[in-house]
Amino acid sequence: MKRRILLASTNPGKLAELSDLLGTVNEQVEWSCLKDYPDIPEVIEDGRTFIDNARKKALGYAKATGLWTIADDSGLVIDALNGAPGVYSARYAVDECNSSDRKALDTANYKKVLAKLKDTPDEKRSARFMCYLCLASPENVLIETEGTVEGVINHGPVGENGFGYDPIFFISSLNKTAAQLENHKKNKISHRGNAIRKFKPLLENLLKE
Ligand code: IMP
Repeated sequence: MKRRILLASTNPGKLAELSDLLGTVNEQVEWSCLKDYPDIPEVIEDGRTFIDNARKKALGYAKATGLWTIADDSGLVIDALNGAPGVYSARYAVDECNSSDRKALDTANYKKVLAKLKDTPDEKRSARFMCYLCLASPENVLIETEGTVEGVINHGPVGENGFGYDPIFFISSLNKTAAQLENHKKNKISHRGNAIRKFKPLLENLLKE
């Protein structure tokens, strides 16, 4: 019998990426997402670390639905800003941006980073995207993995693909920003892709038990 697992997200891009990268696991799993449970209260991401937020969401939604639940938390960590925007990545410039449009907030977020780094020389602009993934039952955490991708903050936006901070995140080994990569190429090297690739064999083992 297939096991039903809840992906604790309403973001269609994330859901597609997860089920795509989890590949063969799909044969053993019936996926649900938060849109299937419109009445359960939102779990607030108020943790101080990515792992706190991923755990809190996975356990919270697992308890609310009785299902095994996968949750993630991700963001951009910039060394010259002491780790900011970090867990506040999604809403870094929310006070400066008076639009509720996601794209407008993404642009305000990266412009705020560029302004803060205006006088920071190239060799001090190191950064990484980080992603934590957590699977929990209603009782406890079952699997946790992390993934990172290293980069440098560009001096201006380049590229049209992706979302969030992709236009200013330059990956030296590819000589491109993340926004210049096609989706499947980004998945191969991304923090989320790396976390999911570690997660997949652990989930396969658990499903065999
Ligand atoms: P969350 O994991 O959905 O809470 O997203 C955190 C925020 O981190 C996003 O809204 C983006 O601002 C940023 N972020 C996470 N992953 C990426 C990525 O792959 N590219 C660009 N920005 C990202």
